[in-house]
Amino acid sequence: MVTDAPVVVLGAGAAGLVAAHQVAARGIGVIVVDHQARPGRKLAITGGGYCNVTNMRVKARCFISSNPHFVKSALARFGPWDVMDMLADAGIGVEERDRGELFCDQRATLLVDFLQGRAEAAGARLMLGCSVSGLRALPGGGFLLRSSRGELQASRVIVATGGLSYPGIGASGLGMDIARSLGIPVVAPRPGLAPLLWSASDRERFADLSGNSLEVTTRCPDSPAFRADLLFTHRGLSGPAALQVSSYWRPGASVTVDLLPGIDVEGRLLEARRERPRAALRTVLGAWLPKRLVLAFEGREIPDLPMGRLSDLHAAAIADSLHRWTFHPAGTAGYDKAEVTVGGVDTRAISSKTLEARDVPGLHFAGEVLDVTGWLGGYNLQWAWSSGHCAGRAV
Ligand SMILES: Cc1cc2nc3c(=O)[nH]c(=O)nc-3n(C[C@H](O)[C@H](O)[C@H](O)COP(=O)(O)OP(=O)(O)OC[C@H]3O[C@@H](n4cnc5c(N)ncnc54)[C@H](O)[C@@H]3O)c2cc1C
Repeated sequence: MVTDAPVVVLGAGAAGLVAAHQVAARGIGVIVVDHQARPGRKLAITGGGYCNVTNMRVKARCFISSNPHFVKSALARFGPWDVMDMLADAGIGVEERDRGELFCDQRATLLVDFLQGRAEAAGARLMLGCSVSGLRALPGGGFLLRSSRGELQASRVIVATGGLSYPGIGASGLGMDIARSLGIPVVAPRPGLAPLLWSASDRERFADLSGNSLEVTTRCPDSPAFRADLLFTHRGLSGPAALQVSSYWRPGASVTVDLLPGIDVEGRLLEARRERPRAALRTVLGAWLPKRLVLAFEGREIPDLPMGRLSDLHAAAIADSLHRWTFHPAGTAGYDKAEVTVGGVDTRAISSKTLEARDVPGLHFAGEVLDVTGWLGGYNLQWAWSSGHCAGRAV
């Protein structure tokens, strides 16, 4: 059986539901296809169930992409204030937390229900539990999609199938496979916003620290510096400071951690030497850092000395080690734990205004399937809303 619709949206996630509403609201027939039994499964678990919907400080530099200017047009046309209007329509309030992050004041499932209801009320039809395995461009224009419910024909298609993270709730590589099959380049995907794993020797040294957290600054080659909380776990480093830097990290590279950002460690050590010459160095440092971390560093980055025997050179070297602790991750925790996928459909092959593939007229991409990855803090959903809105307007 062939089902015909002017527009098919692939994926009933954040980008797909917004896109479908935009299409249907202009009186154009649209079917939203998703292989999950419920729409928005990932959206429902975002932000610990309260969805960090956007960030008031959103800027192009908060996104990783091979084409760093790509996001500007869509963000300018549907930004954080538009997201707030959308939430107001849903009857959901927002709470501003750290660094401009806006969270819903009610469960994210309410937002999913609203997005589904709004799209359906405008005339969109949801086809759930329907798995799509491929798409073919028809010679005279339009597309034929192979699905578990038969073939679907559409004049235009919006691919909003997301990234590879959290395969247990429906993530798949379909969007990237479709792009490749039509000759649209894909930037090799990798897990982003993911915990970093210990090497075997670091695990032995730091596993006891599991549960400790502290505010640090992290960076790796090509990344900006991220000041945020770092959490030690049995497997490695987690918490926002590790997740942020993981999106830039490449196998083999190191991560540098400033364990006492903004603190004049050398000056403070020299002061402590004058004032507390009999105190052990570990006791002095234990007031500034988790005690177990000081013990893990003792004998390597930190000597076992009373303060009175600390030389000026020691103080300078300790300060350097604590401001520039270098860690060599063995890897990331992978797509099962990664909040996003870095890489995806190459934005250099896509119009930033219409999100349409330059060489495949009628085929649009929106959301995480594209090579656009935001920082932690609401940026990825902002991208899903902005790109979904623009793709929906353009078809
Ligand atoms: C645990 C977790 C917490 C997060 N928290 C936040 C947060 O608080 N703030 C933030 O900004 N970002 C957060 N993110 C990231 C954010 O959820 C995603 O970037 C965003 O949902 C991407 O939207 P999307 O519409 O592009 O894709 P998705 O929301 O992933 O939707 C894609 C849809 O396509 C469907 N699909 C996939 N393959 C097929 C197929 N073969 N056939 C049919 N359908 C298919 C899927 O079932 C899914 O419904 C979080 C991610 C995770 C995993």
